[in-house]
Amino acid sequence: MQQSAEIIFLNGNVITVDSQDRQCEAVSVWGNRISFVGTTQEARKRIGPEDRVIDLAGRSLLPGFNDAHCHFGYAGTAKLQAFVGYPEVQSVEDIKKVVAAWAAKTPKGQWIVGRGWDETKYPDRRRPTRWDLDEVAPDHLVFLTRTCGHMSVVNSKVLAAESIDRNTLDPHGGMIERDSKGEPTGLLLEHAHIPLRGKTAPSVDLLDKGMDTVNQEFMQVGITSATDMSGRNPNEIRLFQKKLSRGEIQFRINYAVRNSGPVTLGTDYVKTGLLTGYGSPWMRLGCFKAQMDGSGSGGSAGMWTPYPGSDHYTGILHMTQEELDRLVFQGHEAGYQVCVHAVGTQAIEMTLLSFERALRKIPRPDHRFRIEHCTFCEDSLADRIRDLGVIPVIGPAFLYWVGDGYIQKYHKQWLDWAVATRRLLDRGIKVPFHSDLPVVPCNPLPAIYTAVTRKTESGQEIGPDQKITVKEAIRSYTLFGAYGSFEEDIKGSIEEGKLADLVVLSGDILRIDPEKIKDLRVDLTMVDGKIRYQRKAQECT
Ligand SMILES: [Zn+2]
Repeated sequence: MQQSAEIIFLNGNVITVDSQDRQCEAVSVWGNRISFVGTTQEARKRIGPEDRVIDLAGRSLLPGFNDAHCHFGYAGTAKLQAFVGYPEVQSVEDIKKVVAAWAAKTPKGQWIVGRGWDETKYPDRRRPTRWDLDEVAPDHLVFLTRTCGHMSVVNSKVLAAESIDRNTLDPHGGMIERDSKGEPTGLLLEHAHIPLRGKTAPSVDLLDKGMDTVNQEFMQVGITSATDMSGRNPNEIRLFQKKLSRGEIQFRINYAVRNSGPVTLGTDYVKTGLLTGYGSPWMRLGCFKAQMDGSGSGGSAGMWTPYPGSDHYTGILHMTQEELDRLVFQGHEAGYQVCVHAVGTQAIEMTLLSFERALRKIPRPDHRFRIEHCTFCEDSLADRIRDLGVIPVIGPAFLYWVGDGYIQKYHKQWLDWAVATRRLLDRGIKVPFHSDLPVVPCNPLPAIYTAVTRKTESGQEIGPDQKITVKEAIRSYTLFGAYGSFEEDIKGSIEEGKLADLVVLSGDILRIDPEKIKDLRVDLTMVDGKIRYQRKAQECT
């Protein structure tokens, strides 16, 4: 006999993502688990007086989305600080207006911290400089991070405070941009800006408020599980735990711990003896993370050949091969799942070499080493990823939101390699999808749209031979995400006994015109058997 009522969904197009890729009509949920999957006719027989019945009326029901790599811990803080992101900000002049407004309400000598600028969206494609910021806030410490998170522009007061001038050498793994006369422009890339990110880390109060916004957004777009890849700030991890216990975070968290430059949380974790997988289905310790190169959209990814317009610049590598080997081996030897941020061909190749070396020393059959982003991946790299059993975690959302910038900046051949969904899936590789929020927005539907159509926000096509099906894209955003954190046995597909993390869309994603996928909405989000979000009845179609 059942102890409590069920929630029963009927008349839907249920995309189960099970091993046979079945579709069915009805699902019931009892407690926090899926208790039945089948036809509407069978489900009707289960309806008791206490049960709640939801008529899907042909809409799609899917497993909850899993954003396999994002930075939700501080993503929400961007809008609470000097936000300079698109579409609000569309030129350097707009950036100046935002900074001027913050300067007017911030005491002199204090920080003005912001994020989000993206010169590829500006008519003149010009990056802001120290001199732009000096015009509007000469007496503050201004620090504005690009949307990619890999570089920041600062004003002259920050350069002076940090003793950065024309004689300062580039740090290892970083670059101080200089003008034709050798004068720093204010743009600090990779390891040149990382220490300042530490100094300007958001307060606990700001983090707390920001996470509330992100939680709300995740529920609205159907993200029921996410991996936080920041891995640098213990305040964030403490807050995850606190806010989960208070019910203020309603999605499941997997969190990485990283080592890069001054950040040593990964090594600190190794010392505790805790390992990947420690925790509960709500909050688990994930990867030991290393960072090998820069950003695809920002132009600091480590590539094999020079960038267009240069005869020598091939991007920025954060480490030497030996340093990466050492770090990967440290995590692997301790028993961690290891992941490395590698965007460009050179960085991916070096990462694969480190993985091969670590596994030769200590073989482990189900290591699930991950390459985060793996953005520019051609055939030979894809072959090695398959042979080694590595998981490339990639972002079709990049193509949608910043793909127009790729087209502006990169060689045709690089575009053919970008976000190689078909190339990877055809080799039988499991490919989780991610947004990298706040680099680009977290809504999975525009990302699925791009995976299927290969179109950017403006409608330009990138690598049409890499198109995948809607079902494949959904599998990458659900089950493969769970696989990426060793959780495919408990979530990621709609099967009896699995956790009831579900999403109802506003239409039938398999039957509508693919052009309309990006405009679908999430009508309902369920996590752990509880309905956490429901679009207002009058808005539902
Ligand atoms: Zn990231």
